[in-house]
Amino acid sequence: MKALRYTAVGQAPEVVEIPIPKPGPGQVLLKVTAAGVCHSDDYVMGLSEDEYTAAGYPLPMTLGHEGAGIVHELGEGVSTVAVGDAVAVYGPWGCGYCHNCSEGHENYCTNARDLGITPPGLGTDGSMAEYMIVDDPRHLVPLGDLDPIKNVSLTDAGLTPYHAIKRSLPKLGAGTFAVVIGTGGLGHVGIQILKALSGATVIALDVNDQKLELAQEVGADITLISDATAHDRIMEITAGLGADAVFDFVGAKPTIPLAVSVAGIDADVTVVGIGGGEVAFGFGTINYDVAVRIPYWGYRGELIEVLDLARAGKIDVEIQQYTLDDGPKAYEDLHASTIRGRAVIVP
Ligand code: NAD
Ligand code: ZN
Ligand code: ZN
Repeated sequence: MKALRYTAVGQAPEVVEIPIPKPGPGQVLLKVTAAGVCHSDDYVMGLSEDEYTAAGYPLPMTLGHEGAGIVHELGEGVSTVAVGDAVAVYGPWGCGYCHNCSEGHENYCTNARDLGITPPGLGTDGSMAEYMIVDDPRHLVPLGDLDPIKNVSLTDAGLTPYHAIKRSLPKLGAGTFAVVIGTGGLGHVGIQILKALSGATVIALDVNDQKLELAQEVGADITLISDATAHDRIMEITAGLGADAVFDFVGAKPTIPLAVSVAGIDADVTVVGIGGGEVAFGFGTINYDVAVRIPYWGYRGELIEVLDLARAGKIDVEIQQYTLDDGPKAYEDLHASTIRGRAVIVP
């Protein structure tokens, strides 16, 4: 089968021919129907040799931590899914045994590191291939009649903002303001989740006019260029009070200080992007009672909820489709920031 693999640190990923894997006991083999392209892959492929090894990633590694497929073959003992089922892959695999996992919070598994459990595409071979192994049917969620190509990215670009936003919903009633920084793959879905679930006026920021156009199309109430004037514009819009929740889908040097500086009293600042930014923290650096979070991905139950939002027609991922052979080009376009919404690879 064909697979898009990262084969050498610092080099572009390549399409290679490898054998179709066999599902071992308890595993499931999927025929992949779609795989999403995330900026985190660009981050991983930007690591130096030392950083890459220290993070525990193998080489070669099949990319793809957003996946959807059709159940193709069952490993011994698997009975909760059947051949032919359309499924989405819940990516942040855990042990299934610790307290967090037992609550469906496998993204915060406390045993994964010791047991060497890693997500597909981020340590284990991922979804950018004709077939993929899923280590346990627990890591599958039924897709039903949702189009896999349109919806595969909800497994990360939907789930991650959903998890971030859900925790702030009690602060986002009518008359409130939510700021979204970065309106790419995650951000453009985040805006739709905010509009669907909260009463907040959504202020969206990006450095790119095309991305702001998309932000407006998917429901942002106000769009602003993310530059040195953004702070004052947001304070003006919020009558000097600041926003009730800020979601930073960039997490870079200029954006985290901006996120914190526009947070009103008792606001939430949630930094999702891993852009290397940071901010000084202490009395007087931030409004009273502001909560700052760095979440990772989301809960299994939340993936089911996100798919239900899509089924209800409340979120619609803007996609740009590529073949597996064009996979390297998808990553070039992601790096150049020319993708509108999310790139999806269809084997
Ligand atoms: P993307 O490339 O699709 O979108 C990023 C957007 O940020 C682009 O529209 C870009 O124009 C914009 N941007 C860049 N610099 C900016 C700035 N200074 N101000 C405002 N906007 C700016 O990326 P994505 O796939 O949506 O991922 C977003 C970030 O989230 C990445 O850092 C990714 O690694 C991270 N991520 C984190 C998690 C998590 O669990 N915490 C999960 C998925 C992705
Ligand atoms: Zn991701
Ligand atoms: Zn666990």
